[in-house]
Amino acid sequence: MSATLIRHHQGSVLRRTRLPLCLLQTPRTPLLNRNTVSRNLHVARRRPLSPSPAPSRLLQIALSIRQESTEAQATEKKGPFSIRNFLFKAFAYTGIFIVSSGVAVVAFFIYDATTYREDPSATDIPVSELALNPRRGGPKNLPIAETLIGDQDTEKMAQQKDKPRLVILGTGWGSIALLKHLNPGDYHVTVVSPTNYFLFTPMLPSATVGTLGLRSLVEPVRRIVGRVNGHFMKAEAHDVDFSEKLVEVSQVDVNGQKQSFYLPYDKLVIGVGCISNPHGVKGLEHCHQLKTIDDARQIKNKVLENMELACLPTTSDEERKRLLSFVVCGGGPTGVEFASELFDLLNEDLLVFPKILRNEISVHIIQSRSHILNTYDEALSQYAEARFAGDDIGVLTNARVKEVQKDKVIFSQIEDGKSVLKEIPMGFCLWSTGVSRAEICKRLSDKLEGQNNKHALETDSHLRVIGAPLGDVYAIGDCSTVQNNVAQHVVSFLRTMSWEKGKDPEKVQLRFDEWRELAHRVKKRFPQASNHLRRLDKLFEQYDKDHSGTLDYEELSELLHQIDTKLTSLPATAQRANQQGEYLGRKLSKIAAALPAMRANDIDYGDVDAAVYKAFKYKHLGSLAYISNAAIFDFGGMNFSGGLLAMYLWRSVYFTQSVSFRTRCMLAMDWAKRALFGRDLMSF
Ligand SMILES: Cc1cc2nc3c(=O)[nH]c(=O)nc-3n(C[C@H](O)[C@H](O)[C@H](O)COP(=O)(O)OP(=O)(O)OC[C@H]3O[C@@H](n4cnc5c(N)ncnc54)[C@H](O)[C@@H]3O)c2cc1C
Repeated sequence: MSATLIRHHQGSVLRRTRLPLCLLQTPRTPLLNRNTVSRNLHVARRRPLSPSPAPSRLLQIALSIRQESTEAQATEKKGPFSIRNFLFKAFAYTGIFIVSSGVAVVAFFIYDATTYREDPSATDIPVSELALNPRRGGPKNLPIAETLIGDQDTEKMAQQKDKPRLVILGTGWGSIALLKHLNPGDYHVTVVSPTNYFLFTPMLPSATVGTLGLRSLVEPVRRIVGRVNGHFMKAEAHDVDFSEKLVEVSQVDVNGQKQSFYLPYDKLVIGVGCISNPHGVKGLEHCHQLKTIDDARQIKNKVLENMELACLPTTSDEERKRLLSFVVCGGGPTGVEFASELFDLLNEDLLVFPKILRNEISVHIIQSRSHILNTYDEALSQYAEARFAGDDIGVLTNARVKEVQKDKVIFSQIEDGKSVLKEIPMGFCLWSTGVSRAEICKRLSDKLEGQNNKHALETDSHLRVIGAPLGDVYAIGDCSTVQNNVAQHVVSFLRTMSWEKGKDPEKVQLRFDEWRELAHRVKKRFPQASNHLRRLDKLFEQYDKDHSGTLDYEELSELLHQIDTKLTSLPATAQRANQQGEYLGRKLSKIAAALPAMRANDIDYGDVDAAVYKAFKYKHLGSLAYISNAAIFDFGGMNFSGGLLAMYLWRSVYFTQSVSFRTRCMLAMDWAKRALFGRDLMSF
C-alpha cells in the first residue's frame, strides 16, 4: 500500500514542477531514500505554487532535496559512523585529559619548587633589650613581657607595637571569630593558649572512630593570628591583676619547671571555654572525655584496643563482653553523636574482625532526662530514639550515674516512680554530661564583685565582665554568660530618674507613652528581651491591674520580673561563641577608630562601648545533630530529620563552615577515603 502511495506522490509532484525524475536522482544523492523524497515532494505538492520564476523554484527544490539527502545519509550511516565518531572523540578527550594532567603535575612541581627556601644568608633583626631581659614587677614580682621578641619582625608589626594592647586568652571558636573580624593594625594583639590550633568541635565525634582524620579538624593558630600581625604564646593564663592590668601566664619549660610571667593589657578578652561537669560523681578517672583533639585520639585508640583484646584466645567470654560494652554517660548532642559514630564503625567496618564481636558488642546511652537530645524539639528527639532502637543502641532514660568503677557503671533509674540501682559492665565509658567553669574563671569570679553565677563569668550585654573596670575585660563563649537582670536594671534606672526629679521612686506612675519609651530603652540595653517586649499595649493592659491607665511601681516590677524569668541563659555552643567573637571583633575595631578623637578631646571615661556599638544580641540559627547515617535539623519550628540525604546536608553545612580551604580539602578527602577504603582502623 505504501508503494502505491509513493508512486502517486511522485507522479503528482512531477506534474506540477515539471521536473524530470532523473534530476531528482543525480549521482550526488546516491543514498537518497525514496521515502524521504516522496515525503519532501508530498510537502511541495501541498504548498501553494510560488509565483517566482521557474529556475529559482527549481533551485529551492533541488536544495531542499539535497538537504534531505544529507540527513538521510546521516541517518543511514549513523551506526558505523557514530561509533567511529565516538572513538575519535574518546581518544581526543583522553589525550586532552592526559596532556592537561601532565601540565598540571609539572605546574605543581614548579610551584612546589618555589616554596623551598635555600637562602642561608642571615640578616640582622632588631630585638629590643627589654624583650630579651624583661623587667620584673607586679604583685608576684614576675618578668613583665612589655615588649615581645617578634615586635619588630615586619614593618607592620613595628608600627603596631605602640598600639593599645589586646590580649586574647584561648584559641577556640570565640577567639578565632574575633581575630577574623578585627581590623588588622588596630591593636597590638597577643593570643595566649595551651593549644596552638583551632579545633572544629562539631565534627570531633567523627574523628574518634577514624571517619575523619584528626588533622582535618584543626587549623594552626599562628596563621590566623598572622592576619592581624599578632603574636602567639603557647602557654596558660592563670590569673589576672585587674588594677595593674596584668595577666599571669605560665608554661612548663624543657626542664619541667613552671615558668611564669606577666603579660600587660589595655583590653583583655577571656575565651578559655569550659571543662566537663563532674556532677560530683566518683570514679571519673575511668572515663574518657571528648573536648580536645587528644581526647579524640585516646578514644579511638581505646576503642580499637578493646576490639583487638576481644579477639585474643586468652580473653574469657565474660571479659570479651565487658570489653565490647561501650557506655556513654549523657544524652546531649556530643554523647548522641559519639554513640552514632561508634555504632557506624561497629556496623560498617567490623567485617575485618571475627564475626562473634559483632554479636557481643553493646552501646548504651545513660540520660538523666526523659528523652535524649532534650534541648531539641521533642519530635526530633523521638526520631533519634526510634532510630537508636532500630540500631540496637540502648537508651536508658531517667537514669543518673552514681559511680564509675574500673569495669562497670553504677546508676539509678526511675522505674514505676521508684529509683532502682543498676549497673552495666563496661570496657569503655565516655563522660559527656554538661559543662562547668575552667579554673581561671573560678579564680576571677571569686575576685570580682557582682559575679554570682557558679557556671560561668557573668558579663553585661556588651560582653564586659561584671565587676572588672568598665571596658577593660570582656568574656566570650562557653566561659561566659550574659546577665539578664532587666528588672534590677530598670528599677535602679527608675530610682535615679525619680530622685533626679525629686520624686519618690516607689510612687512612680508610668503612662503608656512613658512605658513605651522605657521598653525601648530596655530593648536597646537587653536585646535578648526584645522578643518578650513585642506587644507593649497588651503588656500594659495586662499588668495595669487596677485599670488606672498607668503602671505603678509594683505593677512595673512584676512585669519586669516576668520578663526576667522568661530570659534563658545563652547556650554553650560554637554558634554562640562565634557570634560573640564576631561582635567583639567589630566592636573593638570601632573603639579603636574612636580612640584618636577621644584622646584629642581628653575623654577617658564613660561608656565607650555603648557609645560606639549596640549591645550583643544572640540569633539562634538552629541546631543539628548526626544520628547514625541520618541527621536532625531543629530550626525552631521548621524541623527536619531524615536518612542519608539529611546526613549529606549535615555534612555540607559543616563543610562550608570549616575554618579554611585546607581543612575543607581534607574533609572531602576523608569522606572519600571512608567510602573507598573504609575507616582508619589503626591505633598509634
Ligand atoms: C565534641 C563536641 C561537639 C560539639 N558540637 C557542637 C555543634 O555541633 N554545634 C555547636 O554549636 N557547638 C558544638 N560544641 C560546643 C562548642 O564546641 C563550644 O561551645 C565552643 O567550642 C565554645 O567555644 P569557646 O571559644 O568558648 O571555647 P573553646 O572552643 O572550648 O576554646 C577554649 C580555648 O581556650 C583555651 N584555654 C583553656 N584554658 C586556657 C587558659 N587557662 N589560658 C589560655 N587559654 C586557655 C583552650 O586551649 C582553647 O583553645 C561541641 C563541643 C564538643 C566538645
